[in-house]
Amino acid sequence: MSSENVKHETFEGQPHTHLYTMSDPAGAVVFRTDVMKQVICSPHGGELVTAVLSEEASPDTLPSDVRDLIASPSSGLPESASGTARTGMHDVKTLYLVPTMDCQLACGYCRIVRKQGQQAGFRLSPQEGRDAVDHVLGRAPSGAKRTLVLFGGEPLLVPETVFAAICHVREGRESANTDIMLQTNGIAIDDETAEFLAANDVFVLLSLDGVEAVHNRLRKLAAGGGSYEGSVAGYRNAKKHGCRMGVNATVTTATQDRFVESFEALLEDLRPDKCGAITHLHPVSTGRSRWQVSSEVATRTQIGTFLAARRMGIYHQQMCEKLAPFVNGTWRRYACAGCGGKVVVAPNGTAGICEYNASDGQSFVPLEEFSEEAVADFMSWAARSPLDTRECMSCSALSTCGGGCAYDSQMHMGDPLKFDPWLCDTNIQIIQWLMHDLLSHLQGAVAGQDFHEVTERERALVLGDITVERTLAPMTSIAEFAEARKAGECAAG
Ligand code: SF4
Ligand code: SF4
Repeated sequence: MSSENVKHETFEGQPHTHLYTMSDPAGAVVFRTDVMKQVICSPHGGELVTAVLSEEASPDTLPSDVRDLIASPSSGLPESASGTARTGMHDVKTLYLVPTMDCQLACGYCRIVRKQGQQAGFRLSPQEGRDAVDHVLGRAPSGAKRTLVLFGGEPLLVPETVFAAICHVREGRESANTDIMLQTNGIAIDDETAEFLAANDVFVLLSLDGVEAVHNRLRKLAAGGGSYEGSVAGYRNAKKHGCRMGVNATVTTATQDRFVESFEALLEDLRPDKCGAITHLHPVSTGRSRWQVSSEVATRTQIGTFLAARRMGIYHQQMCEKLAPFVNGTWRRYACAGCGGKVVVAPNGTAGICEYNASDGQSFVPLEEFSEEAVADFMSWAARSPLDTRECMSCSALSTCGGGCAYDSQMHMGDPLKFDPWLCDTNIQIIQWLMHDLLSHLQGAVAGQDFHEVTERERALVLGDITVERTLAPMTSIAEFAEARKAGECAAG
């Protein structure tokens, strides 16, 4: 039996209580999203809980500790869940630097390269790259952890700006507190580039959609032919020189049938430090991309790729970002970095909060003018969280969702502050799988008894050998990494 056969029930007057009943393994899980507690029940325990929550039996039929946990009224989310909203510019700790929106590739589903709009023909100069680092990351309080992401198009088409920005960070006072990530197709990673990236502790995240035949289906070189060979050569070069590596794979309707199998083979071959599965494509215009998979396929893909990564002990970004709050007993406020405090500096030198809005300049202003007042969306997006949304309070994915992508909501629903029901379906189905996985690990805990409250250590079983404490950010922080390996001086000098 699979997790698809799990029965999910909610009960009148108990908005934060979710009951999952299954027959293989036999039993039930009660999940309370307000106190972040779970109780594993034997089949008989599950029947008792169902009767109490349906008000067909007195709560006194349950042991007092279980009754307190399951049937006590909710008083809403605690302060620790509601008090984490971004409040102003001082909360900005992430800079996306986009030196160009050009790319050597012409991937069938790419939104950025095909719709450059106001950014077409612009490239950031090295000085503009350094200024962006100062203006954006320089506002974070001293000692605060911060992240520079080099993004495109293909950022390595403007190597002088990429190198200048990296050196500027590494020569600055906050170097030890700054993670740097390069998101690239890998084609331009030659020996010299790889040495530079490794010496400056740049995490390299490559886009590779699977084994060669799967990857090449939609990831074509603009000049013609598949891009797999060039990308994998760049990957191997960066890894050979000591870079920490990640692989992001995007699933489409053209590749969905063999995707998980292909993803697993890719991980076996490349053994990255991190991986991720992209199941939601940003629309080019209104309406879903023709390559967008269904929410059922997206769910199966997230779970299947995670299980492959878990078997190999490899951090899976999309799933671990949901599982970490579940395991830690906390609440995820934002899934969107733009909501959480990221600033993007686009090729024409303007700054905004989402790279996908740079083409039409929505919420983009000259870098030096970027402020709470000048960019109205900066503060309105900060309020976009399921944790502050009444309709989300009774959702089983409340603690793990984060609300998805504001740009996609803007395109699909005409309002960036709404939540896309398509994404909700995926999140809710993943929680259903999670409850099945939890009971599969813990069915022995209720042998000979009816109830067992799940501990944090037991929740961590869903992660296998993956550690999330060190890897909540897109990469391990250099501050931690430096303990294992001495970070060198800036190699480009
Ligand atoms: S709106 Fe979407 S694409 Fe833009 S920063 Fe947020 S999650 Fe990313
Ligand atoms: S899945 Fe949808 S309904 Fe549930 S918390 Fe997220 S946005 Fe809200």
